[in-house]
Amino acid sequence: MALVKIALGIDLGGTKTAFGLVDAAGQVIDRHEIPTQASAGGEKLARHTAAGAAVLIERARSRNLQVVGIGIGSAGVIGAQGQVITAANVIKGWSGVPLAGIVREETGLPTFAMNDVHAHALGEDWLGAGAGAETSLMVAFGTGVGGGMIIGGQVMKGAHYLAGHVGHFSSPYAQGVPCTCGGEGHLEAVAAGPAIYQRYLKLGGEQSSPDTKDVALRARNGDRLAIEAIEYAARAAGLALGDLANILDPHVLVVSGGVANLGDLWWPIVEAEFKKAALGHAKETVIRRAQLGADAPLLGAVTVIPDFVRK
Ligand SMILES: [Zn+2]
Repeated sequence: MALVKIALGIDLGGTKTAFGLVDAAGQVIDRHEIPTQASAGGEKLARHTAAGAAVLIERARSRNLQVVGIGIGSAGVIGAQGQVITAANVIKGWSGVPLAGIVREETGLPTFAMNDVHAHALGEDWLGAGAGAETSLMVAFGTGVGGGMIIGGQVMKGAHYLAGHVGHFSSPYAQGVPCTCGGEGHLEAVAAGPAIYQRYLKLGGEQSSPDTKDVALRARNGDRLAIEAIEYAARAAGLALGDLANILDPHVLVVSGGVANLGDLWWPIVEAEFKKAALGHAKETVIRRAQLGADAPLLGAVTVIPDFVRK
């Protein structure tokens, strides 16, 4: 009996690493998860990731499934050879680590790695909100703000693998606000989840409020300052999406991330500001909420394994 071909997708984040056995139609048929040893040192972390992969590879073999390759979406800027170019401060010692090379060496399988947000965008384009569209732009508003432009099923990586860093362009709403990247005035500094929390405190909100989730809860209960903090972030997000539509004109704009879960507190303002900022027919751009949740990066990561996915 011929072995059924399967791929292994990995989503390597700052705190946890998720593994999934993915079939050619995009079903996740088995899963595994480990804490990311972010302070272990880069090469050790890559080997630890390979050991996690081995768990699912072994389970696949026992089910007569043939793992044809591994796709990794990882925090950091990831180069063409699946090597980590830079990783800000998310993972200690991650810069320079030949991530795909180490996992390939440890598992004996063809291995590909890319930035996790790029993988996220590829996942939504393959099976989620961008499915069937010729081009899609995914923008995620979460702990940070990031994105990925997909053209004909391929992610645009840019000359330095930085394309899609939509959190780090200037927003008029962010003037003078320091950004996580070390710069200031960037979209992420006003539109990410933590920025909403910071703004709430700055507006004079309840100083004992612990986090963004609490601010959202307060907004739902009518706290005027909490509502104002969320609305401010939403205006910045909508303007940015409109600007991006003017530049890139995607067929579908996929909006993802925890902030997009704020529902009626956030979406109507984003959409209204988007329409104000977008030019001409860009106002009609289809905007969809992301559909794949936390699975998007590991699903997207396997799309780069040659001759594997069914599109
Ligand atoms: Zn920045």
